[in-house]
Amino acid sequence: MAETMNVTSNHTKKKLFIHGEWIEGKEYSELRSPYNEEVIAEIPMATAEDVEQAIAAAEKAKKVMAKMPAFERANILETLARKLEERLDEAATIIALEAAKPITTAKGEVVRTIETYKFAAEEAKRIHGETISLDAAQGGVNRIGYTVREPIGVIGAITPFNFPMNLVAHKVGPAIAAGNTIVLKPATQTPLSAFFIAELLEEAGLPKGALNVVTGAGRVVGDKLVTDPRVSMITFTGSPSVGIGIRNKAGLKRVTLELGSNAAVIIDKNVNIDKIISRCVTGAFSNQGQVCISLQRIYAHEDVYDAFVEKFVEATKQLTLGDPMKPETDVSALISPSDVERTLSWIQEAKQSGAAIATGGVREGNIVHPTVILQADPQLKVSCQEVFAPIVLINKVQSVDEAIVFVNDSNYGLQAGIYTNDVHTALNAAEELHVGGVLINDIPTFRVDNMPYGGVKESGTGREGLKYAVEEMTEMKLVVWNRN
Ligand code: NAD
Repeated sequence: MAETMNVTSNHTKKKLFIHGEWIEGKEYSELRSPYNEEVIAEIPMATAEDVEQAIAAAEKAKKVMAKMPAFERANILETLARKLEERLDEAATIIALEAAKPITTAKGEVVRTIETYKFAAEEAKRIHGETISLDAAQGGVNRIGYTVREPIGVIGAITPFNFPMNLVAHKVGPAIAAGNTIVLKPATQTPLSAFFIAELLEEAGLPKGALNVVTGAGRVVGDKLVTDPRVSMITFTGSPSVGIGIRNKAGLKRVTLELGSNAAVIIDKNVNIDKIISRCVTGAFSNQGQVCISLQRIYAHEDVYDAFVEKFVEATKQLTLGDPMKPETDVSALISPSDVERTLSWIQEAKQSGAAIATGGVREGNIVHPTVILQADPQLKVSCQEVFAPIVLINKVQSVDEAIVFVNDSNYGLQAGIYTNDVHTALNAAEELHVGGVLINDIPTFRVDNMPYGGVKESGTGREGLKYAVEEMTEMKLVVWNRN
C-alpha cells in the first residue's frame, strides 16, 4: 500500500480539475486494482453541473489559447515532456496500478507518452496553410488567396483504459499544439494517469481552463460533452458501440473515432518462422491483449502452419503471469472480473464448436492464461468480434489470396500485417487489405506516435498521429485579397 500512497500522494481522495482549480466531487466512487481488487483511490463522479462548469472554463480560456504564440504552446508541451521524463517511474507505477499493465510495459507507455508530447511541441511550430491559385479561374484574376488553420475551439476528449497516459497524450498534445482548450473525460477505470498529467501541465504553466479533467460515468459526462453546443469537436477513443452512439448524438460537431479491431497477420510460405515468433507472441499478449491492434487472428500458409503453431505455443507457455508491479511479469489481470467471465465464455463457445485450445483457456484470479485457439470458425465470437483479452487464433490457409479474403471479412479495419519474402505478394497485400494501415513484414500491432493512425469500417473515422490530429483539430480559413 505504501507505493499506492506515493503515486497518489496529492490526495488519495482525488479532485476534479476545472478552471485551474482542484475541486471536491459531490459523489465518489472507489477505484480498485484490477489485479488484487484493493482500493487505490476515491474518484469523483462528476455531475452534469460539474461538466457544465468545465465546458464554461474551456470556453472562457479559448481566446487565451487561440492568441498564445506557437513557441509558447510548444514550450508548455516541451516542459510537460521534461517533467514526465523526470517522473517516469512514478508515472509507470500509476499505470501499472490502475490498469494492471505490467510495469515494464507501463514504462514503455510512459516513454512513448513523452515522445508524443515532444512531437506535439514540434507540430505546434509548423501549423500552416497554402497559397491558392485563384487566377486559375477566369473570375479569380487579380486576387490573392491563402489559407490559414485556426484552432477549432473547445474539444471534448474521451479516452479508454488500455493506454491511460499515451492516449490522453494523443488528444491533449495536439489540442494544445493547435491552440485549443480541452475537457478531458478519462476512462472510469483509469483516471489517475489523467490527473497526473493535469498536475504536470499545471506546473508547466498551462493557462487556467485550457485543460479540465472530469471523471465519472461515461453516460453522464459523455452525454453532456457530446451534446453541448460550445464543444466544437469530440475526439473519442474506445469501443465501437460507444463511438457510434456518440456520432449519432454529436450533430454537426467534428467527431474523430478511434475504435476497435480484430487485427490479423498473414504468414506466407518460406517465411523464416524463428525470426517472427517472439514478435507475434508480443503482439498477441502484450497488455493481456487489451490493445486495439492486438494480434487476434493469424493466417499461416499450410507449408509453415505446423512449425509455426508448435513454436508459437511453446513461446506462449514461457510467458510469466502475475503481479503487474513485478518487472518480470508479461501478462497480468484483465481490466475487470466481468471481462474475465466474458473471455472465458467466448473460449468455451470456441471449444464447443470443435476448435482446439492449444494452450491456456483457464483463469487464475483475474488473470486469463494466454490462450491459443486453432482452426476457429469465422462465425465464432473469438473470430469476428474484438476479444480484447489474451486470445489468439491460428488458422491454416492455402494461399495469401485466401488469407486476404479472411482478413477483409471483418467489420473492422484498423491495421493488418503480412510476412512474406515476395515483393509482388507484399505489394498486392498492401493494395488489397481494407484497413487504415498495412505492415509489411511486421505484426499489425506496430505503432509509433507520429505516424497516421486510424481505421476504416467500424474501426473508426479520422486519423491520429500528431500532424494528422492537428489537422483534425484545426479549421481551415480562406483569406482572399482583391487587387482590382
Ligand atoms: P469504452 O468505449 O468502454 O470507453 C471509452 C470511454 O468512453 C471511457 O472514457 C468511457 O467512460 C466513455 N464512455 C462510456 N460510455 C459513454 C457514453 N455513453 N458517452 C460518452 N462516453 C462514454 O472503451 P474501453 O473499454 O475503455 O476501451 C477499449 C476499447 O477502446 C476497445 O474497443 C479498443 O479497441 C478501443 N481502443 C481503440 C484505440 C484506437 O486508437 N483505435 C486505442 C485504444 C483502444
